[in-house]
Amino acid sequence: MIEKTLVMLKPDTIKRKLMGEIISRLEKKGLDIIAMRMIQMDEGLVSSLYEEHLGRDYFQPLKEFIMSLPVVVCAVQGENAILSVRKLIGATNPQDAAPGTIRGDYGAITRCNLVHASDKPETAVRELGIFFPELI
Ligand code: ADP
Ligand code: MG
Repeated sequence: MIEKTLVMLKPDTIKRKLMGEIISRLEKKGLDIIAMRMIQMDEGLVSSLYEEHLGRDYFQPLKEFIMSLPVVVCAVQGENAILSVRKLIGATNPQDAAPGTIRGDYGAITRCNLVHASDKPETAVRELGIFFPELI
């Protein structure tokens, strides 16, 4: 089934000049980047994107990290895109992420794991709605 999902390149991707590498991996998988924008996240956007994590001990440092530089938000479309992107990025903790995945190849610690991607269809609709309401 053709799906849309939200991908966000986090500040560590921008800082380490890995934007092209990560976009390239999505493209090589056959996924389409149907919208893309560089933005500065603010407190409201971080709380909205990460609403399930509000109140967790890692939320404040996560928020500061996400606001530390601009990020790139992308709407990605393709066959089974939601699970497909999650498989490409790998496990949340880069120490657990398999080699060959983005987090497995480039990440070292959980907070700075390079990329966010929606984890299921309801989340994809909610998260795309934050940044690309015209696509919902
Ligand atoms: P994922 O990004 O794989 O969907 P989660 O939704 O569980 O992972 O967490 C969202 C983001 O919050 C993670 O990608 C990571 O940046 C950060 N995070 C999650 N858990 C922790 C943790 N225990 N310590 C530090 N940061 C965390
Ligand atoms: Mg998540």
